[in-house]
Amino acid sequence: MAFNWLKKGLSKTRKLLSTDISELFAGNRKIDDELLEELEELLITSDIGVQTTMDLIQSISKKSSEISDADQLKKVLKEKILALLSAEKPVPQKIMTTPHVIMVIGVNGVGKTTTIGKLAAKAVASGEKVIIAAADTFRAAAIEQLVIWAQRAGVEIVKHKEMSDPAAVAYDGVEAAIARGADIVLVDTAGRIHTKKNLMEELKKIKRAISKKLPEAPHEILLVLDATTGQNALSQAKLFKDALDVTGIALAKLDGTAKGGIVVSICSMLEIPLKYIGVGEKIEDLQKFDSVQFVDALF
Ligand code: GDP
Ligand code: MG
Repeated sequence: MAFNWLKKGLSKTRKLLSTDISELFAGNRKIDDELLEELEELLITSDIGVQTTMDLIQSISKKSSEISDADQLKKVLKEKILALLSAEKPVPQKIMTTPHVIMVIGVNGVGKTTTIGKLAAKAVASGEKVIIAAADTFRAAAIEQLVIWAQRAGVEIVKHKEMSDPAAVAYDGVEAAIARGADIVLVDTAGRIHTKKNLMEELKKIKRAISKKLPEAPHEILLVLDATTGQNALSQAKLFKDALDVTGIALAKLDGTAKGGIVVSICSMLEIPLKYIGVGEKIEDLQKFDSVQFVDALF
C-alpha cells in the first residue's frame, strides 16, 4: 500500500529513469557511445548530479558487453544506485527522551509547515502526544496555516502574535510540552526574515532558547529541502549545515518532479541522513526514507 503510494509519487522520475531508458533500446540498439551519451543526458536530467552520472556511465561502459537490453541496464543501474544510497552511515538511534524536540528549518516555500503537519499526524498515529510551536512569526498567514495543520493532525499548538519573538514561541512550546507531558515538540520556523536580521542568527537564537528550557534539546534539527529545486537544494543544505548542526533532511515535493535523482545526490554528497520524503500535499504523503524501497519504486 505504502509502496504503491511511493511509486505513484515518484512517477515522474520513474518515467524518466525507467520508461525513457527502455526507449533507448528501441529498434534493437546495442550499448555504444551514442546510447551512453543519451543515457548520460537522462541521468543528468534526473538530477543525479554530474559526478555521479559520470561514475555510473563509466561502470556501465565497462560492463557493456554483458548488457544487451533495457532490463539488464536497469538492473545494473539499480544496483549501483542502491550502493550509493546505502553508503550512508547508519545513525545511532538516540535514546528517546521526552519531550523529543524537533526544530524544522529551511528556506521559504520548501515545505516546512506541511512536513510538520505530516510528522504530527504520523506521531499521533503511533500514539504519541504532540505539541507544535509556531515560531514562524513572520506573517500571520504562516501561523494560520500551521493552526490548520494542527487541527488536521489533532494536536495542540503554541502560538504568539504575528511578528513576536520566534525564540520566545519555541521556548513556550517546549515549556508547554514539559508541563503537559507531551512526547514530541515540532518547532516551525521562518525561511526568511526582515532584511536587517540574518536568518541563520535568528535560527541559532531559537535553538538557544530551546536549550535554555531543555538542555539536551533540540534533539533533531530537520532541514527541509524542495526536490523540484534540484541542485539548488544541495547548495541550501551546505549553507544550513555550516550554520547549524543539521541532523536530518526531509525532502519534500518528490512527486512534483522528474528530478528524483536528487535523492542520490543528497545521499552521496552530503553527510546528513535523508530521513523523510514528501510525495504529495496530503497529510499521509510523508514516508520514512528507505533506500531499497526507493530504488524498487524507481525501476
Ligand atoms: P514552508 O514555507 O517551508 O513552510 O512551505 P509550506 O509547507 O507552506 O509548503 C509550500 C507549498 O509546497 C505548499 O503549497 C505545499 O502544499 C507544497 N508542498 C509541501 N510538501 C509537498 C509535497 O511533498 N508534495 C507536493 N506536491 N507539494 C508539497
Ligand atoms: Mg511555513
